Amino acid sequence: MEEKKVLTKMSFDELSEFILSLDERKFCVNQIISWIYVKAAASFEQMTDIKKELREKLIGCAKITDVKIKTKQMSADGTIKYLLEYSDGALAECVLMRFDNRGNLSACVSSQVGCPMGCAFCATAKRGFIRNLLPYEMVEQILTIERDTGLKVTNVVFMGQGEPFNNFDNVYKAIQIINSKLMIGIRRITVSTCGIAPKIREIAKKELIPTLAISLHAPNNALRAEIMPVEKKYNLQELKNALKYYIDETKKRVTLEYILIDGLTDTKDMALELISYMKYLKCNVNLIPYNPITPKDKFKKPSKKNVMFFKYLLESSGKKVTVRLERGADIDAACGQLAAKTDI
Ligand code: SAH
Repeated sequence: MEEKKVLTKMSFDELSEFILSLDERKFCVNQIISWIYVKAAASFEQMTDIKKELREKLIGCAKITDVKIKTKQMSADGTIKYLLEYSDGALAECVLMRFDNRGNLSACVSSQVGCPMGCAFCATAKRGFIRNLLPYEMVEQILTIERDTGLKVTNVVFMGQGEPFNNFDNVYKAIQIINSKLMIGIRRITVSTCGIAPKIREIAKKELIPTLAISLHAPNNALRAEIMPVEKKYNLQELKNALKYYIDETKKRVTLEYILIDGLTDTKDMALELISYMKYLKCNVNLIPYNPITPKDKFKKPSKKNVMFFKYLLESSGKKVTVRLERGADIDAACGQLAAKTDI
């Protein structure tokens, strides 16, 4: 028997050609696209306004996806972490986070399997780099969440495994699909990067410009180079120039993400250096209290007092500062904890 065609793997031209080969009425194409991408249908049976004949043909020769949920974990705070298995056996997570009672649902999407950037504090780096994810494999992360929960994702953050700007073209194609087919506004899509300066300039010139978050994590070259190897390639000064360019081109504000590690990055001196780095930069700051990744981790969580003091110092320089709510730490779904652990 011929292998079933996988619909989300096809380009939209291929999909349209395929559907027209089964039924020549053009409106069926849009109906099916809408069932798959807007309504996140899990089966052809669900597509009730499609003629039974076409549905039966589809059941016989096609399937919606080839991505499987390998494991699913629920946190006490409502966060859900999915470990997905792709057709070649590669594994990567996506995470659903509920932040408030306004109904906002954020999907945290992985852009690569593993990560090549080697940040000293991140569990994904310990996995090394395995491969880039394809556009549909990223889009599938959101669709899987929607199919499984029956809920509509409202915000997308590229903050899972991988460095999105190391897989730029595929991430950009995924953003195009998320925006035009899943109908998620570009302002609700955020890409987080460890600071690949040329790609920050490139995204600023694109038609669709997502919100940008920068993993800064240290305010001076020496400390940043110690914990983030990317600093040796694109240093803080180059990064700042790229950010100024992005801000000028797009008129958008950027978010600087800053990890607070006890005794290392959470001190008063670091806060003062960070304030000076942020001068003339249109940015907000998101402080991330460090999440330990191993029981004997050499980096430690900061004290609550230090977090509040650090926040206070930055705020007194006039910046808007938020402290990232820790989500899903009990299921290793918090920032920096994604490493496709299967021993659960
Ligand atoms: N590679 C991209 C996308 C990953 S986003 C980037 O670097 O931005 C994941 C965020 O969690 C990044 O800001 C990352 O630096 C942060 N992170 C990594 N390890 C962490 C840890 N142990 N505790 C808290 N945050 C961590």
